[in-house]
Amino acid sequence: MKSAKHLSQVTENNGGNGNGQQKPKSPKYLTRLGQIPQLGHEEREQLEKVNEQFIFRSNDYYQSLIDWDDPEDPIRRIIMPDVRELDDWGQLDASNEEKYIKVKGLEHKYTSTALLLVNEVCAAYCRFCFRKRLFMDENEEVTKDISDGLEYIREHPEVSNVLLTGGDPMIMSTSKLEPIIQQIREIDHVKVIRIGTKIPAFNPYRIINDPSLHKMIRTYSTDEKKIYIMAHFNHPKELTPIAIRGLNMLMESGAIVVNQTPMIRGVNDNPEVLAELFNQLSFIGIPPYYVFLCRPTLGNQPFAVPVEEGYEIFEQARSFCSGLAKRARLVMSHETGKVEVVGMSDDQIFFKYNRAADAENDAKFLVFDSNPDAYWFDDYEEAQMELPLEYSTENALVS
Ligand code: SF4
Repeated sequence: MKSAKHLSQVTENNGGNGNGQQKPKSPKYLTRLGQIPQLGHEEREQLEKVNEQFIFRSNDYYQSLIDWDDPEDPIRRIIMPDVRELDDWGQLDASNEEKYIKVKGLEHKYTSTALLLVNEVCAAYCRFCFRKRLFMDENEEVTKDISDGLEYIREHPEVSNVLLTGGDPMIMSTSKLEPIIQQIREIDHVKVIRIGTKIPAFNPYRIINDPSLHKMIRTYSTDEKKIYIMAHFNHPKELTPIAIRGLNMLMESGAIVVNQTPMIRGVNDNPEVLAELFNQLSFIGIPPYYVFLCRPTLGNQPFAVPVEEGYEIFEQARSFCSGLAKRARLVMSHETGKVEVVGMSDDQIFFKYNRAADAENDAKFLVFDSNPDAYWFDDYEEAQMELPLEYSTENALVS
């Protein structure tokens, strides 16, 4: 069985409590459950079994956001292991990302967008991570040497967007990140550089304490070609004053910041909470971009919300939002593309490919019989109707 990669503890200065009033400090990373004093002996022993398979990592800033008097605390759900992760459910690579790896460390699934997996570490580990396989022994999808990936991008002029991902690229020092950004910027046909990161939520001090990061963004996010920060806030509790300060520093440096989040049971599977997240992000100037239905990733059953329930939550949340706050799309990041849930009737559900790996599926509209037990696109067996792009646009059936 694959097991979690256990990293040695990284100790930095003591962290803050998120109130933004004190001199910024760097959090202390926590990699052992024994460092969490709120866990009783018995509970810790149980969770150690989970930790053997799916690694635990957090820091004292993020831990300080947990209300330990609330057993349902959403931050606790995001970061603390859950014994139900050991239930046999899902697969390690639920969207078959491996299929789209063209050279080591590079995925190319959608024509215009390539992914560079530059790192296999995050500032902390979300329990519901869909890439948890990267944190395990034996995984070799990530490479520190991105030269083959860069060469691939140079040879593919259709790639206008490059997403740096992993793991979390922002856990790298700016001195390591900058040469990567610089080399991508030298490729003329790449217009947008995206950085997928949960650092603004997990460790905003990484942003606040590093003027060289701001300088790098100012240099490479230009008038014509922007750097996008694909932030990952799951719950309004993560939007602390210090996190908001970090986000504003990124925007003031010239980055465009958007947010994407999975819908997670016990975290944001509540219309009021999801609406509060969307609205608060819009107040800061950050559009909600995607809400992902949880992929059927190994160990993720406690976090997954069925598709039809998820759609109802999503639409109710949108009804509490301003237009600016309701820009997210609800999608399944499926092997074949980003399948958006666009509507439901009493007995049917409607999907549309927002992004398709195969051009034949571009904007395809699909109708399936309802299945309230479905967690994923594959759980819908036979389409009642499939309208390809030509048909749907010619007949104006799909807006
Ligand atoms: S930040 Fe992203 S890649 Fe890292 S653990 Fe969370 S979901 Fe996984």
